[in-house]
Amino acid sequence: MITGHTRLVAVIGAPVRHSRSPVIHNAAFAAAQLDWVYVALEVPPGRGAEAIRALPVLGLTGVNVTMPHKADAARACDELTPVARALGSVNTVVVRDDGSCFGASTDGEGFLRALADEGLDPAGRSVLVLGAGGAARAVAEALVRVGAEVAVASRRPEAAREVAAAIPGVEPRPWPSGAAGDAEIVVNATPIGMGDDPTVPLPPLAGQWIVDLVYHPLETNFLREAMECGAKAIGGLGMLVHQAALAFELWTGVSAPLEAMRDAARSAQ
Ligand code: NAP
Repeated sequence: MITGHTRLVAVIGAPVRHSRSPVIHNAAFAAAQLDWVYVALEVPPGRGAEAIRALPVLGLTGVNVTMPHKADAARACDELTPVARALGSVNTVVVRDDGSCFGASTDGEGFLRALADEGLDPAGRSVLVLGAGGAARAVAEALVRVGAEVAVASRRPEAAREVAAAIPGVEPRPWPSGAAGDAEIVVNATPIGMGDDPTVPLPPLAGQWIVDLVYHPLETNFLREAMECGAKAIGGLGMLVHQAALAFELWTGVSAPLEAMRDAARSAQ
């Protein structure tokens, strides 16, 4: 039951109504028996910083931040984790007891945990990240940090160069015209294959690890082709659940009920 004591967290974004985060986090609060509730707040572009500054005034305990507010939220926070500072982007804000806002970016660590669940340690491996947006940056930063050899390819060459300039250790590449024969791991960090899109970013090769950050559908054609040709396939659901679990733990200080969150993420498809 929601009462005057119920703690409130939210996701801010535009658009935000499609977000699976309310389903995942409310399932987690129920499983952990916490009197908390999570809602989606549509915040117009350009007003993300205002929204962050309003959190302590309204008494919210924290928020997730999604497009297009991640950079504005980072600038509006009083303190950032080293990763959030390096990326200039936050997806999780914690409002501390003194009213200050602490910003974190949990996508990269969520990605690494999703790989670990599948028995994949990227240290020392060659990785090609496709795309140069927010997810690609978070993933590339995390991979470099754990000692992978990371290249980023984007359809606009300048975008990959910008990622390489921002994250030391990343090599910029042009968008591949065929299979990426020199990569042990290929990560799709573009929306290719999302929803009804049947296309794949490139042909997978036997022996490669194919990681698709897309989680709707759970099994993209990229993953299907990977399994058919003898590559190993990891979908986007694991990262979605782990980045949410890390946010949950930052807000509540309680271990995240991972299975309840995974079930909720699956059922929200
Ligand atoms: P974003 O910031 O908008 O970046 C998208 C990137 O993909 C840009 O580099 C864009 O290039 C590129 N791109 C778009 N369409 C393309 C195409 N047809 N061919 C080649 N490149 C294309 O988005 P994002 O936040 O990084 O998200 C990227 C994907 O990751 C989305 O599908 C999202 O759902 C998924 N994601 C999953 C998780 C998870 O937890 N599993 C977390 C975050 C994101 P331009 O700049 O040229 O447009």
